Amino acid sequence: MDWERVIEFFLVVILALTLFRAKFKGDIGELAVAYMLKGLDKEKYRIIHDIKLNNMGGSTSSTQIDHIVISTFGIFVIETKAYKGKIYGKEKSRTWTQYLSNQKNNFMNPIFQNYAHIRAIEDILNDTYPEMTYHSIIAFSGEANIDSIEVTKAKVCKIRYVSEAIKDLSREEVIGKEDIGKITEILEKNKSNQTDFAHTREIKKVKKESEEKIKANICPKCGGNLVEREGKYGKFIGCSNFPKCRFVVSKNKKS
Ligand SMILES: [Zn+2]
Repeated sequence: MDWERVIEFFLVVILALTLFRAKFKGDIGELAVAYMLKGLDKEKYRIIHDIKLNNMGGSTSSTQIDHIVISTFGIFVIETKAYKGKIYGKEKSRTWTQYLSNQKNNFMNPIFQNYAHIRAIEDILNDTYPEMTYHSIIAFSGEANIDSIEVTKAKVCKIRYVSEAIKDLSREEVIGKEDIGKITEILEKNKSNQTDFAHTREIKKVKKESEEKIKANICPKCGGNLVEREGKYGKFIGCSNFPKCRFVVSKNKKS
């Protein structure tokens, strides 16, 4: 028997299973949200799932958004996170942390991430709807413990409570029912045709460029100088253009 081929075969199977699992997990999250939005008045709420939009003002040329709910109460932008364990994060910190029994992982602050999504939508709609109201919702899967998260700029909840969060935030009608279709059309027209591969490659490139600038003591956000500053929690490296630019180097990037 050709053992090398057998091993190769099993490696391919393991890879396929890993990919399938990741895809499947994401789909479950999306199904859950689709299901939970069912209780809302269809005439007043319309959902767009998994849309990649042109990102005119952003650092990458397109941005991927999990769910957009267009309604007479404004536009709800929903970012879903399929994370387990205890989640800890602050409104303004660059990263949030996931605590599992034997490890901890940092991930980008989802409020910032979703804010970038909202800005991309705003850029597209601004000409036609400059007074639009935007609502940010971060929805974690049922296995996550989000009890310690206290934020004001976004609603953080479990996926199964998304419809309640939307109802809660539906206070004032800002557009008419007829605008919902118009907005859907404008967004569909601004769908990015960048492939997933090109999108991922671009994100990597931007990340690498940002890391190189940090190494050279240049602020990747505004081009200012990075300087050592003294804060409430000790010394840190931030942008010399503070408070105009709030960029801070996270500790694991530079020691
Ligand atoms: Zn700066």
